[in-house]
Amino acid sequence: MRVRFAPSPTGFLHIGNARTAVANFIIAKKENASFILRIEDTDMERSTKESERSILEDLRWMGIDWDEGPDRDGGHGPYRQSERFDIYDAYTRKLLESGNAYHCYCTVEELDAMRKACEAAEKPFVYPGKCRNLTAEQAKSFKDAGRRPTVRFRVPDGEIITVRDHIKGTVVFGSENIGGDFIIVRSDGTPIYNYIVIIDDALMKVTHVIRGEDHLPNTPKQILVARALDLPVPEYAHLALVLGPDRSKLSKRHGITSVEMYRKEGYLPEALFNYLAMLGWATETGEEILSLGEIVKQIELSSLSRSAAVFDFQKLRWMNGNYIRGYDLSKITDFFIPHIKDAGYDVDDMPRERLESVISLVRGNCEILSDIGKIIGIFLDDVFLPDEEADGLLREEDSKKIVESAKKIAGSGLDAGNYSSELIKRIKADTSLGGKKLFLPARAIITGRLKGPELDLSLPLIGFERCMKRIDYCHEKYCRQ
Ligand code: GLU
Repeated sequence: MRVRFAPSPTGFLHIGNARTAVANFIIAKKENASFILRIEDTDMERSTKESERSILEDLRWMGIDWDEGPDRDGGHGPYRQSERFDIYDAYTRKLLESGNAYHCYCTVEELDAMRKACEAAEKPFVYPGKCRNLTAEQAKSFKDAGRRPTVRFRVPDGEIITVRDHIKGTVVFGSENIGGDFIIVRSDGTPIYNYIVIIDDALMKVTHVIRGEDHLPNTPKQILVARALDLPVPEYAHLALVLGPDRSKLSKRHGITSVEMYRKEGYLPEALFNYLAMLGWATETGEEILSLGEIVKQIELSSLSRSAAVFDFQKLRWMNGNYIRGYDLSKITDFFIPHIKDAGYDVDDMPRERLESVISLVRGNCEILSDIGKIIGIFLDDVFLPDEEADGLLREEDSKKIVESAKKIAGSGLDAGNYSSELIKRIKADTSLGGKKLFLPARAIITGRLKGPELDLSLPLIGFERCMKRIDYCHEKYCRQ
């Protein structure tokens, strides 16, 4: 079995395409198949090297590796379509010679007029076959007039194209319903995706095409080309579309749609991979957090859902939080460091042991790595200003008692050696307050928040000096009015 992922390098790696890559990768692993990466860059105006580079980088980041591709020759290359024009030219000649294709001299203006006429009649555009049967003289006069032809595929009449899709089931198309004779080579000589994709799939010996459902309507065209060229047709599996929460096609207005942005925001590759693998698929037990090995064991091509998958941004965050909590501490610390720096803190001089203890304490409060920016100040700022909730609580009378008491205790016999075990104990004895009335204001004074990492574990990591400064600050702010 051989599968392929065939991105067009015309922008960032979109989450929908990343999901196609994940599905191919998993099936390849499951079936011990070769996984081919093919760059579909024949749209010269929109394709860029920069986009190709970033797509490869994003795939690698997600842990997706290929057996053959532009950087890894497997004997079926080249793996960039822009480097295969000679191959396509030979096939185009064949099609022209056999009469399965013809030169079309219609100008852009003429085609626009045809399109408008169809629109006015409220019919879908079908090329009426104006150049289907040109005589040699007609063709010559167009050529002499300086017109550069496109090449159109001659769609046979009355042909049935049956696609037996592993996910969608049997889908039947009639050749009269696929939009008429379609262009396979532009007037500038560059070939069109729908034409060359099937040539490449055949030459690269791809056995299974797993791709987005948006390509299902293209499939009959590709099969007709294969028939005309006597090329093998692969098996198909069209993945249901990924939709936004409002069930329209997933786009930027729904949230982040590029893998690169997920990476920058602090999602972990394992979490994104896991989430994308679960889009349109569920385990029998309902289990959702699965390693690659577990997914590979359980997934089947035919068990992928036929209906659209709604992208749940919150669920991906939640899943990411799970991965953050379960990660090896040293590795996750390394992942957190750039996000701590982005938040404006320099931790280069911080002893590693202390940093890891801090991370161990706060990672449970981070769903994405960049969440740390909002929390890390608890341990690094002199005074971590109380947020609205903490501020509201500290203004209450009972809380003021805690602040007064903390101030008193701070000034008598507390030092760096004993403060973390003594402070709360002594406030309790002094005020006779306990439970929430003690712990919430104490937490608000020391961490500026009512929720967050455990207070008794945070105290030693915040440090004596800081704790004292925060008590002073709160005393000044809440008890001196
Ligand atoms: N290059 C196509 C795309 O990016 C993929 C085509 C295919 O998988 O057949 O949508």
